Amino acid sequence: MGPDVAAVRAFLTERHAALAERLAGLARRDVDPRPQPADDAAARREARTLLTLLGDAGWFASIGEPDWRACCLARETLAAASPLADAVFAIQALSSVPLLLADNATLRDRWVPEATAGRAMGGFAMTEPEAGSDAGAIATTARRDGAHYVLTGRKTFISNAGLADFYVVFASTDPAAGRKGLSCFVVPAETPGLLFQGAQVLSAPHPLGDIAFADCRVPADHRLGAEGRGLALGLATLDRLRATVGAAACGMAARALAEALNHARTRRQFGQPLAEFQLVQHKLARMATDLAAARLLVYRAAAAADAGAERVTLESAMAKAFATEAAQGIVDDAVQILGGRGVLASHPVDRLYRSVRALRIYEGTTEIQHLVIAGQLLKGAAP
Ligand SMILES: Cc1cc2nc3c(=O)[nH]c(=O)nc-3n(C[C@H](O)[C@H](O)[C@H](O)COP(=O)(O)OP(=O)(O)OC[C@H]3O[C@@H](n4cnc5c(N)ncnc54)[C@H](O)[C@@H]3O)c2cc1C
Repeated sequence: MGPDVAAVRAFLTERHAALAERLAGLARRDVDPRPQPADDAAARREARTLLTLLGDAGWFASIGEPDWRACCLARETLAAASPLADAVFAIQALSSVPLLLADNATLRDRWVPEATAGRAMGGFAMTEPEAGSDAGAIATTARRDGAHYVLTGRKTFISNAGLADFYVVFASTDPAAGRKGLSCFVVPAETPGLLFQGAQVLSAPHPLGDIAFADCRVPADHRLGAEGRGLALGLATLDRLRATVGAAACGMAARALAEALNHARTRRQFGQPLAEFQLVQHKLARMATDLAAARLLVYRAAAAADAGAERVTLESAMAKAFATEAAQGIVDDAVQILGGRGVLASHPVDRLYRSVRALRIYEGTTEIQHLVIAGQLLKGAAP
């Protein structure tokens, strides 16, 4: 299934509407029929397969030449078909955007075309055991040593850990300066001293794990942006991508609503279809309304970014917070309408239930989005 273009038409061009239709067709043909991976090892193999498949079909084009509405359409479509395929798209974007934003043409030309063709898998390594929401607490260091930096430290909860071909890594070049001492580096996966420490297995298929840097020597020209500007680059990346997390949430919610509607029409209890009970109708109405509101916030933020707004901090934080929270409720209501069938591991709604939860946590939790929104309001931003 594809996004409901009509509902957000005010934010889209003709080209976007045509793209949405084409992506829906590609998802139906290539992604929907793929079997669900049985375990984490299978999910890791499937992620690499999906990378090639999506790259060959041109899904990542909207990352290389940033078109945020197109990225949202892609994530909405993929998330409805396969949350794992959406995660593959998300991390390609997360690892490519810092390269696009920073002024380092050599690194950009080395990695972005490979990433957007699906030939190189990226990773984005910010989180550490003691630095989650508080990214300023990053303790990994990058000590200058002649023409190199020497990285030492540990990263956790890294998507594509152990699978990626390159990582965008945040480390401190000046620990005394705190968050203003952070810098950003591109580290190819085969660099000696970059170690995969093992998988962290989620309840939904998503390759995740720990990596460590043990005296890992990186050429000085692998730094992205100026020393001390790493956190700003990371936050500018998240600014642009948070609306796409909201889009993924909308894709999952739309699929859950479609499954719930279908079930409510066909399942009969007490001599009539579930859809004729007003308590079920109330759930369906609320689910559809929340989804419509979420999509408006998502495409509003993406359209503002496409229009060249320097920062879309407020819009993208609102889109991510509202859409991911709404999607959680919509998917939960879908499970309820499905009854026992909704908690069978083989049912798409159960898969969505396990997948949607992480969206309220990664790329900044809902609480952090609310702090960001309030911070913007207090600075005088108009909602
Ligand atoms: C599926 C998944 C994929 C991920 N992929 C990546 C990745 O590729 N790269 C990467 O770098 N990271 C990744 N992460 C990590 C993710 O970004 C962090 O989990 C997230 O930022 C939260 O950090 P934390 O888990 O340490 O929670 P904590 O920061 O410890 O937060 C725990 C709770 O406290 C709340 N809290 C924290 N501070 C405040 C505050 N000031 N006010 C109010 N409440 C607060 C939080 O909202 C949360 O509810 C991923 C996480 C998941 C689940």
